[in-house]
Amino acid sequence: MKGLGNYLKEKIRDFARSIGLPIFGVTSSDPLECLEPVLEKRRALKLDSPFEKNWQIEKRCRPRKSFPWARSILCFGMPYGEYEDEDNREKIFARYALVKDYHIVMREKLKKVGAYIKKLVGENFRYHICVDSFPIVERALAYRAGLGWYGKNCLLYNPQYGSWFFLGEVIVNIPLEEDEPLDRDGCKKCEECIKACPTGAIRQAYSLDARKCISCITQSPGYIPLELREKMGYWIYGCDICQEVCPHNGKRRSNDSLYSTDDTAYKLIELLNITEEQFREKYSGTVLCWAGRSIIRRNAAVALGNTGKQECIPRVEHLLYDEDPLVRAHTAWAVGKLGGVIAAEILRKAYGSEKDSAVKKEIENALSMT
Ligand code: SF4
Ligand code: SF4
Repeated sequence: MKGLGNYLKEKIRDFARSIGLPIFGVTSSDPLECLEPVLEKRRALKLDSPFEKNWQIEKRCRPRKSFPWARSILCFGMPYGEYEDEDNREKIFARYALVKDYHIVMREKLKKVGAYIKKLVGENFRYHICVDSFPIVERALAYRAGLGWYGKNCLLYNPQYGSWFFLGEVIVNIPLEEDEPLDRDGCKKCEECIKACPTGAIRQAYSLDARKCISCITQSPGYIPLELREKMGYWIYGCDICQEVCPHNGKRRSNDSLYSTDDTAYKLIELLNITEEQFREKYSGTVLCWAGRSIIRRNAAVALGNTGKQECIPRVEHLLYDEDPLVRAHTAWAVGKLGGVIAAEILRKAYGSEKDSAVKKEIENALSMT
């Protein structure tokens, strides 16, 4: 079976490459035993993201709990991040946010992989596709399958593509030869990502506080913690800083997203005023649509507050009366942060007509900043 398994594995590798999945490795369906205590500790220390809170750690680390028939896990990586027009890229969104939603693209490709294997193996072949869709720990499986080594920012680095790649898995009922994890200290003495992270989310090498990570904050629902808003800079969805500064990601880029330009403020105002219809038309098929207009406008309000451009205040005053309390609250923060006499005046006026107690509290806070 080993010989046949190897032959099959190479056929899969070739096929995957031909459909745009050049990163490939295999691991077993055995539990990720070492990871269980790590995830327990992260949960106890409240370092996990809000998205993880309902996921059972045992299930996440033991693929056979959900798929008793599983024998191997095929891990794939799909590179992204190259832009033809780098200078004109909107740097308020992470690189992955403006390409077609990878969940859709990757799933389509993995369906083709599944169908291809079925054709080779026969009707008894069984498989399940995961693309950020089932709470197995994808990155840990990909590491075990040899797709990359861990950077101090907790991301996986592929020797050829750096950290710019998406993950997806096909869990299968056939045994294939496992790959070995890459035994490499790629970071050595470098600490660029730790130094560059604006929120201190990378607490120390290889330890991430997801609740402080801008990437996670910009996707999470609800009110953004006050102490993190200023540190978010202009990020509307995701954050690429710790990847942009990394020497393993090709040409190193300075973090120019933290500098305010008139153009940025203009784009943020446009986003804040976007209608539901325009939003769907402009961002359909991207992960921004998954986040939804309310979250994107909330984030745009915070970013506008961080531009320092007081002249923008009259252009967002009407948003203090928006139907979405999340937008009213974060616009109030932005106005307070931009500050000045006009800011105080319009905040006081909005306070008089505000009925929502949480938004009222936000306006009070905003007034204290003017
Ligand atoms: S994505 Fe941004 S906030 Fe998150 S760890 Fe990296 S630099 Fe820090
Ligand atoms: S920036 Fe430096 S420390 Fe961070 S992941 Fe890259 S090489 Fe490692």
